[in-house]
Amino acid sequence: MNFEAARKLMVEEQLIPRGINDEKVLNAFLKVERYRFIPEELQASAYADYPLPIGEGQTISQPYIVALMTQALKLNGSEKVLEIGTGSGYQAAILSQLAKEVYSIERFPVLVKGAQGVLAGYNNIHTKIGDGTLGWPEEAPFDAIIITAASPKIPLPLTAQLKEEGRLILPLGDSFTQMLTLFKNKNGNLESADICPCVFVPLVGKYGYNKEI
Ligand code: SAM
Repeated sequence: MNFEAARKLMVEEQLIPRGINDEKVLNAFLKVERYRFIPEELQASAYADYPLPIGEGQTISQPYIVALMTQALKLNGSEKVLEIGTGSGYQAAILSQLAKEVYSIERFPVLVKGAQGVLAGYNNIHTKIGDGTLGWPEEAPFDAIIITAASPKIPLPLTAQLKEEGRLILPLGDSFTQMLTLFKNKNGNLESADICPCVFVPLVGKYGYNKEI
């Protein structure tokens, strides 16, 4: 399979027609080798227009959703970004092309281990095992926070870890369907904007859901 050609098609057929138009974001999707973040037996579907299983009952999101969340953060390259839900490491790899430092937390040790292996050459990505709903206080504050799992609310500790003018994006809602929502920190108030309905696996932790649903 020609992965490079498939990657180009993914950008041309799935991202650009749906409104992903930030050149830097598109270039990141052309550059990052998504197939490397996918279990070997599924790599033929690496550039398909849907999420894929990555183990532990978790998923790597559809490329368009990764792009939509990334573009919404409007990164300029100088930022410190926190990701909750490392999963395969793909979203972190995309963010690493667009921000200065990426900090990413995952609750399943086996997924963090896998992601660390694929991300070995990425020098500005820092990962750790833990409950991401607590954030990463030692590294706070962050210019942007991206939560790649569904939550009924913004985990409380994260609001304190977001800089003034910072952006936070997450799928907000119940276990069946959520609204992808972007928040901006303006003078200590979080202003929200709905982006689109979506379906994510749950954020399980002290300030998310308290169990798998
Ligand atoms: N961003 C990932 C990628 O690029 O492959 C996909 C993320 S997947 C949709 C959601 C991830 O969030 C899962 O790997 C899940 O284990 C993780 N997760 C759920 N609750 C979490 C928590 N409290 N802290 C850290 N990770 C969590």
